[in-house]
Amino acid sequence: MADARGLVDRLAAEHALPVEKYEELVRSFSPALAAYAAERAVAARREVYGDEVFVRGLIEVSSHCRNDCRYCGLRRSNRSAERYRLAPEEVLSCCDTGYDLGFRTFVLQGGEDPALTDAVVCDMVSRIKAAHPDCVVTLSLGERSRASYQALRDAGADRYLLRHETADAAHYARLHPPELTLERRLACLRDLREIGYQVGCGFMVGSPGQTSATLAEDLRLVEELRPEMCGIGPFVPHHATPFAEEPAGSVELTCYLLSLLRLIDQRLLLPATTALATLDPRGRERGMLAGANVAMPNLSPMDVREKYELYDNKAHAGSEAAEGLAELRRRMESVGCRVVVGRGDARRR
Ligand code: SAH
Ligand code: SF4
Repeated sequence: MADARGLVDRLAAEHALPVEKYEELVRSFSPALAAYAAERAVAARREVYGDEVFVRGLIEVSSHCRNDCRYCGLRRSNRSAERYRLAPEEVLSCCDTGYDLGFRTFVLQGGEDPALTDAVVCDMVSRIKAAHPDCVVTLSLGERSRASYQALRDAGADRYLLRHETADAAHYARLHPPELTLERRLACLRDLREIGYQVGCGFMVGSPGQTSATLAEDLRLVEELRPEMCGIGPFVPHHATPFAEEPAGSVELTCYLLSLLRLIDQRLLLPATTALATLDPRGRERGMLAGANVAMPNLSPMDVREKYELYDNKAHAGSEAAEGLAELRRRMESVGCRVVVGRGDARRR
């Protein structure tokens, strides 16, 4: 424990560790060590962001997906999934509602839907930017070609979220079918960075086959890639996937990893994710107490929310929903944070 605390201190001072030290930190996880890391992480976050929490309105634009990721309820093999696709007008109307609620970042997320061509998405992005020039558009639409990422960027998209899911190639192969590779995923992240997006990577905590060694590689990847954002949340099983019987990831371990990520990069945009809020009603608060500084409430039209079922029991009501922003504000205040209206960019060095 004393050694592990020393490693937390070293990470807080140097923002980097050899991969075997990350592994030692993950292996040494205990509630007491997590509390220590959280204290340091919150102090680090305060130095940069004070008590500010950024909110993003999440719009789930399509539940169609050509991919077959083994963990995800939207995978193409899931014949029982209900598929929908929002019309551009619906997306715009979600943004209008969100703008009035105080959102200045809209995240357009969806499965890898072949109908979301460059022309369709570029049109959506440019219309949102025209209607709300002071807003940020974030895309999370999976793997696309470099030319496509460039076209979307040219249309006005500012940020792109593409979780790497795991930085270990063998583990990646356990989570995905053969046509999806870690190499390609990392190439996409490199392209996005080079094109000038603010980039977000990330991973699930407790996905089948994950070990302290693979988590150490995830931490190391974040240290090397230095993304603006990193989205992590517990794995939650979905009943119609090959991982239906696998146990869910741990809220405590997720929070501990949030703290370590905060110590790797004080300026990181770090969401307390919906998956965390799904497994624990106080998940958002616990995320903030571990060093997170972003929440992404759901702005999707009510009638599609249940259909965007990445995993079972996905939270989409209460403070999870954008309409519950007042409740989210109260919850954040209860843990010493304050929701602000603004773009919420990462503070630069
Ligand atoms: N199709 C896009 C965006 C939608 S999926 C993409 O794959 O990037 C968004 C994220 O949901 C994924 O990156 C994955 O980390 C997460 N996710 C999917 N299934 C999940 C599950 N069963 N439990 C927890 N998170 C899951
Ligand atoms: Fe599709 Fe994304 Fe789900 Fe994979 S994780 S099946 S790409 S929606």
